[in-house]
Amino acid sequence: MEQLLDRILEDALNNARKMIELGKTATYIPELGRVNKEYLGVCICTGDGRYHVSGDSDVRFTIQSISKVIALAAALERCGFEKTFDRVGMEPSGDSFDSLVRLDLSSDYPSNPMINSGAIAIASHLSCEVSFERMLAFTKKLCMDDEITLNEKVYHSEMGHISRNKAIAYLLESKGILESSVEDSLDLYVRMCSLNVTARSLSGFGLVLASDGINPLTGERLLHSKVVQTVKSIMLTCGMYDGSGRFAVEVGVPSKSGVGGGILSVVDKRMGIGIFGPALDTKGNSIAGQHVLRELSSKMRLHMFADHVPEY
Ligand code: GLU
Repeated sequence: MEQLLDRILEDALNNARKMIELGKTATYIPELGRVNKEYLGVCICTGDGRYHVSGDSDVRFTIQSISKVIALAAALERCGFEKTFDRVGMEPSGDSFDSLVRLDLSSDYPSNPMINSGAIAIASHLSCEVSFERMLAFTKKLCMDDEITLNEKVYHSEMGHISRNKAIAYLLESKGILESSVEDSLDLYVRMCSLNVTARSLSGFGLVLASDGINPLTGERLLHSKVVQTVKSIMLTCGMYDGSGRFAVEVGVPSKSGVGGGILSVVDKRMGIGIFGPALDTKGNSIAGQHVLRELSSKMRLHMFADHVPEY
């Protein structure tokens, strides 16, 4: 069974390579544009804590929007459900991740915590409560990876090209949604986006979410059940930008992508999957990474509504 899983993984990666030429790295953060777009890696962490890898699964890259899942989990743990969702919604926006149109025209608060406006609102709550160092320590635990650090180059590169997120933050401030200053909210938000992870770290985090918030290797509970349930629901409906609906139909696994090329996927009660593929489609999702996940989902029957689930 182990060997079969490794072979499925290898094939999925090789079949997805052809997609790379159709994608582009994100260039609006100049440092991300310098990443080699040919990278492609996948890692599966199964319930017994074993890692199965293929390709560039140990190359470090910045977590970007996947940190929105960690920030949401931290906010729910610290501030509770009511307070967290007091100022950010739980509905898919259908707009691009950095849009401010809906926020300005038709809503008093951001649609959900997985788009920039929602995540900046969450970061503003968190920056009153917790330091970046505490958030880094929390991220290391969730990912079961002590080597995670801040990528200073990417952090400074994003801070130097922050106009759009600054516009979003000022709009949030004008609506009375920010709890700390625009500067403090953005600083925590960008630091969290600039953490260096690997496909392996994301698969470890995926396994913790698949295991109801418990690190299956140590038995330690890291997140409450209700927090995990909430986070996975929002990943399913809003995690893949404005491609979330199609992805849910085709792959059927709660996931979150980032413009650094990462995808975090949670196969409930079975495994966590981490992907790194920095060539992105027009919506900002790893183009080859999605191909890998479509193939894994179909061959391993990972879709949450699959009728028959084999044992791996
Ligand atoms: N730091 C990025 C930004 O705010 C994250 C975007 C993403 O990964 O979707 O633009």
